[in-house]
Amino acid sequence: RVITVCCGTGCLAYGASKLAQAFRDEIKSQGMELQVTVKTTGCHGFCERGPLVVIRPENTLYQRVKFGDVAEIVTETISRNNVIERLLYSAPGSTDKITCEHDVPFYKKQMRLVFGANGYIDPTSLDDYIAIGGYAALSKALFEMTADDVIDEIRHSGLRGRGGGGFATGAKWQSTREVDDALKYVICNCDEGDPGAFMDRSLMEGNPHSIIEGMLIAAYAVGAHEGYIYIRHEYPVALQNAELAIKQAKSAGLLGEAILGSEFSFDVKISQGGGAFVCGESTALMASVEGRVGEPRAKYVHTSEKGLWDHPTVLNNVETLANVPLIINKGADWFYEIGTANSKGTKIFSLVGKVNNTGLIEVPMGITLREIIYDIGGGIPNGKKFKAVQTGGPSGGCLPEDKLDLNVDFDELSKAGSMMGSGAMIVMDEDNCMVDIARYFLSFLEGESCGKCVPCREGLKRMRQILDRIIAGDGQEGDIETLTDLSEALTMGALCGLGGSAGNPVLSTLRHFQNEYEAHIKDKR
Ligand code: SF4
Repeated sequence: RVITVCCGTGCLAYGASKLAQAFRDEIKSQGMELQVTVKTTGCHGFCERGPLVVIRPENTLYQRVKFGDVAEIVTETISRNNVIERLLYSAPGSTDKITCEHDVPFYKKQMRLVFGANGYIDPTSLDDYIAIGGYAALSKALFEMTADDVIDEIRHSGLRGRGGGGFATGAKWQSTREVDDALKYVICNCDEGDPGAFMDRSLMEGNPHSIIEGMLIAAYAVGAHEGYIYIRHEYPVALQNAELAIKQAKSAGLLGEAILGSEFSFDVKISQGGGAFVCGESTALMASVEGRVGEPRAKYVHTSEKGLWDHPTVLNNVETLANVPLIINKGADWFYEIGTANSKGTKIFSLVGKVNNTGLIEVPMGITLREIIYDIGGGIPNGKKFKAVQTGGPSGGCLPEDKLDLNVDFDELSKAGSMMGSGAMIVMDEDNCMVDIARYFLSFLEGESCGKCVPCREGLKRMRQILDRIIAGDGQEGDIETLTDLSEALTMGALCGLGGSAGNPVLSTLRHFQNEYEAHIKDKR
C-alpha cells in the first residue's frame, strides 16, 4: 500500500509535510514499515479540499485531513480496510460520499495526461520518474530517430505553445534547427506571472524530470547543447525540485557529458527571475538570463534565430515541454486525435475565483466552459449566479453567461474576444463589478509595465485614472470613448505583448458589460 500525501504548495500551506511525517511516525509505531510506503507527491490539483491524502492502489481519497486523523487512517483504512466516511468527498449541499478519487466529479471529466503523474510520483525521486516510463522518450528520440524525425513528429502532433502565444512548437524548433550556428540554446520559461495561474509552478514542483526530458529532446532536435530553466524566485519548491532533478540527471549521465551510446550532450542551468511579469516576454526574459535589465526589445528577428546572446534559441513554456515526452512515446497521431481542429491535446487551467472546486484541472481542448465551471468546478458557491469568466491572464478577456457553451481552444477563445494565455481561469459571480475587475487587471499591468515606451507607460496610467474616477462616481461623458481609444492606441503603438494586449480587460468588459460602466457614470451624477 502507498499513502500519497499531496505536497503541492497549496497543501504545504495547510501543513502537508508535517502530516506526511505524522503518517511515517504512525506507520513505524504500528510496525508496518515493510507493508506501507508514505509518499509525498506534487500537487494533485484539488487545492480547495487540501490537504489531500490518497491511499493506493484503491485510490481512496481523503480530503481536508488533519493531524488528528492520521492514527485512525492507519488503523482503520490501512490495517482493517475500513473507509472513514467523514473524510470522504461530498459535493456542496449533498450528503453522498465518494470514495474513489477517480469518481469525484472534479476529476471525472478531466484528461490528466501531463499533470496526472503528479499524484503518483515523488518529485524528488528519479527512480519514481523512471518507474512511470520516464526518459524512455529521450532514449527513443536519441537511438531510434533523427533530429528531423523528432521535429516531424512534433509538427505532425499539432502541439502549440502553452505559454500564451499558441505558436506551433514544431515550426519553432524547425526555424532554430535551420540556423547554422554551433551555439544554440533551449530555455524553459517557468516565469508564470499571471494572477491566479499556478500550473507551471505545480508541474515543475511535481514532475521536474518530465520538463528536463522535454528540454533534452528539444535540444537534440535543434542541435543545442546548453539550456536554462528560468524560474521566478517566488517559487521556492519548484526551484528546489528543479535543482535536485538537474543534479540527479547529471549523476545519471543524462546532463553534462555526452549521453552513453550517443554523441549528444546537453547541460541545463537555472536562472532565477525577480518576479517581473514583463519577463514572460521572450526578449525581456532573455535579457534577464543574460544578466541585463529585463526589458523587452524590438523583435526584428525571431528569437528562434537570434535569441540568447544573439544565438538561436528555442523558448518553450513548462507545459509545452512536459507534453513532448508523451508525444514521442505515444506518437503524433495519438496526440493529434485529442482536441479540436487547430488545438490539439489537453490544456491545464487554474480554476479559481467564485467556483466551488478551485484548483488545477487538465482537460481536452474543445471542452465547454460550462463543463469546466459546473461539472468539474461544481458551480458557483452559495447559490449565486454566474456572471463572467476571465481567461488568458491579465491581458485576457471576460466572457459572459452566453459564452458558457463555447468550446475552449485557442481559436474559439480569440474569436470571443479573450485568449488562452497560460491558462488562468477566474470565475466571477453576480456580486462582482466588472468595471472594478477591469481596473484590477489594468492596475496590475500598469505596475508591471517596464515603462520603456510611451503608449504603455502613459496610456495605462491614464486609463487606470479614468477607471478610478468612474468607480469613485466622477465618471464623465466621453470616458468610455477615451478608454476605447486608448486601448486601441496601445494595441497599435506598444513595443511588446504586455502593452499590446493591455487594453483587453477594458475592451472585453466594455464589449459584454458596457451597461455596468454606464450605470456607474449615470448613477453617481
Ligand atoms: Fe515596456 Fe509596456 Fe513598452 Fe512592453 S509595451 S516595452 S512593457 S513599456
